[in-house]
Amino acid sequence: MNKTLSNRINNLSESQTLAMTRLSRELQAEGKDVISLSIGEPDFDTPQLIKDAAKKAIDENYTHYTPVPGYPELRKAAANKLKRDNNLDYSFEQIVVSTGAKHSLTNLALSILNPGEEVILLAPYWVSYIEMIKIAEATPVIVNTTIDTDFKITIDQLKNAITPKTRMIWFSSPCNPSGSVYTKEELLAIAELVKNYPDIIIVSDEIYEHINFVGKHESIAQFDFIKDQVVVVNGVSKGFAMTGWRIGFIAAPKWIADACTKMQGQFTSGTCSIAQKAAQAALEADTSIVNDMVAAFQRRKELVYDLMKDIPGIKMNQPKGAFYFFPDVSSYYGKSYNGEVIKDATDLCMFLLNKGLVALVSGDAFGNPECLRISYATSEEVLKESINRIKNTLALLK
Ligand code: PMP
Ligand code: GLU
Repeated sequence: MNKTLSNRINNLSESQTLAMTRLSRELQAEGKDVISLSIGEPDFDTPQLIKDAAKKAIDENYTHYTPVPGYPELRKAAANKLKRDNNLDYSFEQIVVSTGAKHSLTNLALSILNPGEEVILLAPYWVSYIEMIKIAEATPVIVNTTIDTDFKITIDQLKNAITPKTRMIWFSSPCNPSGSVYTKEELLAIAELVKNYPDIIIVSDEIYEHINFVGKHESIAQFDFIKDQVVVVNGVSKGFAMTGWRIGFIAAPKWIADACTKMQGQFTSGTCSIAQKAAQAALEADTSIVNDMVAAFQRRKELVYDLMKDIPGIKMNQPKGAFYFFPDVSSYYGKSYNGEVIKDATDLCMFLLNKGLVALVSGDAFGNPECLRISYATSEEVLKESINRIKNTLALLK
């Protein structure tokens, strides 16, 4: 039997966030007491009013195929949310609802990119961006940053990365994995630069909008002079603790919304009817329903920072949003334990897993090999134990 797979799948890397989560589940099943700080998902339950909306949807027989871009009432709820929270004007025809923001991003890559075109990624970038771009046969162009600039790019760096082949720029703010948040002024400077290149589309991934510790969320789509070049990506997974419901959406120029609708019309159809009704309730609810969760994330962030800042050889930034730390651990490279040399982030990650029983994700997966990602979306008690393990395990390296 010919078991040859497509070059496409052979060239695709497994998602490292999901791979580390799988590995920790396997070790747990073998009876090992592994703590996983590898997956980025709120440990909170979905708020009751959202669950009630889903139950009602079942009872009211929302059980049929849905319109490909989503129920009009959900798309209207998304447009109203963008006006209410972000002062952005979108008509519901510009909203396309998909099976998670991951799916929204895949639609964008497959609908817009042609082979040979370039997509600029601001590193560290979210793990799946690069694979989505590769599967669309486009070329990722990475703009690197370090912890010393709070993982933010300069305008000169961005300008130098733009070529006649540049088609898109993708970034998240608040950022997974660094927790950095671009300010309004910084976004304006990016917008002013990109305006000079009217064929470039900016993908602004705002999925962590609500998990922001420095104030109001700022979207690059707020600058009217660039809005026709921006696609806002958002969803309910992170802000409303709804990762399993799989609802994301884009707000985009109509020609892009139409293309993404056509794409998902062939691949998935409209996403789950019940989850759409739940997401509508989330987007229509008062945003205060997420306040307790966000406050808990902020307390945990402070706890982790206090516990980690004194670990020798670790450099930390102060995350301003999302629920990750992305410490620079490169001072440990070249050290060893019992003859095992730690060459890079992946080695260190495996050492912390096997010896320290804590699962993190290597910075390589996010385009920054100096760092490791720690997700602090778990209880304070578990975080204390994990940081203790990290500290003790790193101390073994000489
Ligand atoms: N963008 C970023 C930056 C993320 O961290 C995630 C997390 N999964 C996603 C998109 C995808 O989210 P969703 O669960 O809606 O697919
Ligand atoms: N976005 C989350 C993370 O970065 C969820 C896992 C995934 O979809 O890759 O860990």
